[in-house]
Amino acid sequence: MNLNIKKRYLIVFLVIAILTVGIYFYANKNKEINEISYRTFNEYLEKGKVKEVYLNESSKISGKLYDDSEFVTDNPRIENFKEKLLLANVDVIETTKGGVLGQILPVVFMFSGIFLVAYLIKNGTKQAEKEMANMANVEAETSISKRISFKDIAGNEEAKESLRELVDFIKEPGKYAKYGARMPRGVLLYGPPGTGKTLLAKALATEAQVPFYAVSGSDFIQVYAGLGASRIRKLFKKAKESGKSVIFIDEIDALGKARKGINSNSGSEEGDRTLNALLTEMSGFKENEGIIVLAATNRIDTLDEALLRPGRFDRQIEVGLPDVNARYAILKLHSKNKPLAKDVDLKEVARETVYFSGAMLENLLNESAMIAARNKNSNITMDHINKAYLKVLVGEEKKDRSSISKEDREITAYHEAGHALIAKRVDKNNKVAKVSIIPSTRGMGGFSLNIPPDRMYQTKKDIENNIKIALGGRAAEEIIFGTEYITTGASSDLKKATEMAISMIGSYGMDKDLGLVSYDVIVNNNLTIDSKLVERVKELLNTFYEEVKKILLQNKEYLDALARKLILEESLNEEQISKILDI
Ligand code: ATP
Repeated sequence: MNLNIKKRYLIVFLVIAILTVGIYFYANKNKEINEISYRTFNEYLEKGKVKEVYLNESSKISGKLYDDSEFVTDNPRIENFKEKLLLANVDVIETTKGGVLGQILPVVFMFSGIFLVAYLIKNGTKQAEKEMANMANVEAETSISKRISFKDIAGNEEAKESLRELVDFIKEPGKYAKYGARMPRGVLLYGPPGTGKTLLAKALATEAQVPFYAVSGSDFIQVYAGLGASRIRKLFKKAKESGKSVIFIDEIDALGKARKGINSNSGSEEGDRTLNALLTEMSGFKENEGIIVLAATNRIDTLDEALLRPGRFDRQIEVGLPDVNARYAILKLHSKNKPLAKDVDLKEVARETVYFSGAMLENLLNESAMIAARNKNSNITMDHINKAYLKVLVGEEKKDRSSISKEDREITAYHEAGHALIAKRVDKNNKVAKVSIIPSTRGMGGFSLNIPPDRMYQTKKDIENNIKIALGGRAAEEIIFGTEYITTGASSDLKKATEMAISMIGSYGMDKDLGLVSYDVIVNNNLTIDSKLVERVKELLNTFYEEVKKILLQNKEYLDALARKLILEESLNEEQISKILDI
């Protein structure tokens, strides 16, 4: 059952429960009222103690005494009882059984309940129908002229090359059939977010001049029972009707993962059904029909193996983060329609944006353009790009900095100077693009932006250096302010350092004592990790920490100079840092 419907039933159930409890309390309002015998009642009547009586047809009557206490007694059901009461100066209130309200209210409640249930169910059904109609409606992007083509994608050369082959397959399936070549049915594009997987899928359809049908795995997570599978069937039916086409399923891991039962919520059964429908449809269409299914994921490691078997997504194309040349190409592409000032060197920007995805680079230029527009400058300058760079990486600068005390600024300055100094001292190829004590809206007190050398592999030395850089902040705090005054500011540094150390020892086999054992495999096979790993990680971090403190002590005057300058200027760039550190 769909969550929304479940929610509606829950609400209805709650309303009815509340009404029932309300009615119960209303009906039992008089529970604490004294029950007196009819004789006592008569005594009270004679003594003039009775103020009012509620008369009705039931076996009991109730009333109030002058001392405001309430009572219930047997209804004598005698003739002239009302007159008797009136003569005794009692206010007589005639009610039906249980009181007028007591009679009417439950009926009112009941009807409101019925109406409410009917309304909610009707509404829910309508909503479900509407959603079903929406879900089943997969429209193709057919206006070829406006569509993305390979020339709109910079970098990703290998991926483009693999897809170009497919263009021919789609255009002329017959040509390949003659040679007995089978067109791949499914192609999986995998890689980090924002690297252009969707763009590539769209471009394939454009280049092959066929319709492009796109859905996302996450759309199927909360659907009504059976709807996911029926949507998949409709999608393939439509694609077949249009002859040749490209079907794109983004975030396929949302479907693939559900089968493994990692998210063993109610959605998994539905995910299972949807995935089965997909696999059935994929094996159902004839080879060389000219339909190709592309899927994208950021997490190939979590995918159901069934998806990767031959005849399914058996061709896998990696779409990785762009290297410096690809970054330059992407920057050039996205700055085409933007007025760049003469001082903007996109090659330099490409060099300083290691690990940026295509989407981040696009975002960087867009933010720069927005800053230029906000300042009413005619061109986008390097200064705008630098500001945007920080915004993309660490969030917006916090505008109100007045509440930060002098002490806090000093602690942040030493902490960040510690990171920057260690980065420069452990490897002179490390770039510290910026160090700053300006807090960001993402809650960071300051930051030191270390750009590692652009290399394909990380060496053991690189990882060790990165751990030391992460420890530099805490070590500087300890040296300057003393062990009792270290702060909470190092928590994310310590997390990073520990993660790096665990990977280094447990995943990359880079520790002499623990050898080449992959602890990932041990954990995945439910074997126990012996605490040796933790012990080693602790030892390693301690050793590095002592080493870092030694470097800082040897460079104490540089550390002071860097921190002082930071307090004064708030942020320093690579050039200024190098100057202070005599590099
Ligand atoms: P996700 O995994 O998050 O779905 P994705 O890999 O599918 O991401 P896209 O949606 O294709 O990424 O890319 C997002 C945006 O990033 C594009 O619209 C484009 O502006 C920009 N972009 C990414 N890679 C490139 C590239 N290689 N060339 C040009 N622009 C790119």
